[in-house]
Amino acid sequence: MTEQSEKSRVGRRGLLSGALAGGAAAVAAGALSAPRAQAEPRPGDACPVPPPRLWTRKQWKAVPPEDPAGVRVEPFGPSLIVVHHMDYPNSTDYSLEHAFELSRICQYDHMHHNGWNDIGQQLTISRGGFLMEGRYRSAEAIGRGGHVIGAQVANWNTAAIGIENEGTYITELPPEAQWRTLVATCAWLCHRYRLAPMTAIVGHRDLNQPDTTLTTECPGNALYKQLPKLRADIAEAMGLPVGDGSPNHVREDLPSTRTGPAHDHGPALGPLDPTR
Ligand SMILES: [Zn+2]
Repeated sequence: MTEQSEKSRVGRRGLLSGALAGGAAAVAAGALSAPRAQAEPRPGDACPVPPPRLWTRKQWKAVPPEDPAGVRVEPFGPSLIVVHHMDYPNSTDYSLEHAFELSRICQYDHMHHNGWNDIGQQLTISRGGFLMEGRYRSAEAIGRGGHVIGAQVANWNTAAIGIENEGTYITELPPEAQWRTLVATCAWLCHRYRLAPMTAIVGHRDLNQPDTTLTTECPGNALYKQLPKLRADIAEAMGLPVGDGSPNHVREDLPSTRTGPAHDHGPALGPLDPTR
């Protein structure tokens, strides 16, 4: 391990123990303390799977953040990768143009309705399987092994990177193209950040748990039930032991937590989050 990565690791541990002291989810504490050595590539190892093509903010014509200087870029990577559904319609338009429009609509929604500085998540995947950069400077940060703090999982934004999947997956599952991109994206992030898929891949509800004030059904019962398979598919793509895919910890059949119209996948900001 390099001195730099040891520093990052220590920094993350300090951060996470702080977050946990703040009352965050016990299940994640278990996941975070689990061994992660199996995913440790040696320095200089090539990514075992080709990174998926990432469409940039410039390509989907993002507007700048309201306050670009307020976007915080951490030098260390996240410890968790959070899978969301967007609670948007299950569109059958699988085109790139639709994917770009999806990102623009989402950014507008987050900035003008939620009052956030920018689009909340770091990454977005359309139902057609197109991966797009989310929050300002996310692609650059991932490329350097760092982390842009987003607005996607309440109280955990400093420690977690979020992938928003277009669609609503309470009863339906993502289309094949979207699933393939999700697997490839997670494998890329796990490699990039030296994370083990069995412990790093969580659903939004794992961190903002049922029966708390910050609760969500995200990423939907159907997609949440697929997370063990997702972890196994990622591990397989990375050439790691697959095992049982690591079972879920939170109830898989949750009643709907929707209180209003769609486009509300659950709490994205909490008192422990440093930016909006
Ligand atoms: Zn969510």
